[in-house]
Amino acid sequence: MTKKDNKTIQDLKRRLLEAIRVLSSEDVLDGSGHLSAKIPGTETFIINPRYAGVLADPADLCVVDFSAKRVAGTEPIPLETVIHSVIYKSRSDVGSVLHCHPRFSILVGLQESGLVPFNRDARMFADGVPVFPNSAGINSEKLASQMLETMGDHYAVFLKGHGIVVSEQTIEGNAVSAIRLERAARDQILLSSFSQPKPLTDGARGRLRSRMDHPYRIWPYLLYQHGIKSKKDARKLTRSMLKQIWPDEIKL
Ligand SMILES: [Zn+2]
Repeated sequence: MTKKDNKTIQDLKRRLLEAIRVLSSEDVLDGSGHLSAKIPGTETFIINPRYAGVLADPADLCVVDFSAKRVAGTEPIPLETVIHSVIYKSRSDVGSVLHCHPRFSILVGLQESGLVPFNRDARMFADGVPVFPNSAGINSEKLASQMLETMGDHYAVFLKGHGIVVSEQTIEGNAVSAIRLERAARDQILLSSFSQPKPLTDGARGRLRSRMDHPYRIWPYLLYQHGIKSKKDARKLTRSMLKQIWPDEIKL
């Protein structure tokens, strides 16, 4: 492995663990669930081991190939690792996958309406979040392929009575997407208690890809809010994300 490859992997590991901390603080991840990131230019990805990701150190993260076999690391990999490998294998637009069991998303996955694009958070999923009808743990290639078929070209899928799978191009975009899904689900449950949620009529605009790849407002804020980055470092990250979106306007 070259020095540059090693730096890429160390960088991905740091970002993955930061995202796991944010997702845990936001009650999207609990002791279970797993987040992964594809190693660019390879058919491998990094994933947290078969225990709470917040307890893992960088050295505990595993490298797994697209047939769900561990190729580096010593810790056991999650039983549902195959969720990640089947998505990476067939979706070249995906760079990060999350599977977890957040309570409000599970409730909405059980509602007949599914997720309704009724507010700002939910609008991001205006293209729909399909429901995979099988509640079993996805621990075989067969089940994972069925889930993938249900997911189609969407970025998120409810696993009925079980959890969610969310994917995006970047780790940060994926974490923000999952947080928005859980917030939308919580608000939908709340709204459902006194009114029927209805889709926004003034154009549900769906996701803005570049903002999801580099969520320059919410991501540095979350890292700061949850005590993961200092104000100075959060500001530095904001500027580097802004530069990814508007390279000509932002000078570092
Ligand atoms: Zn699960």
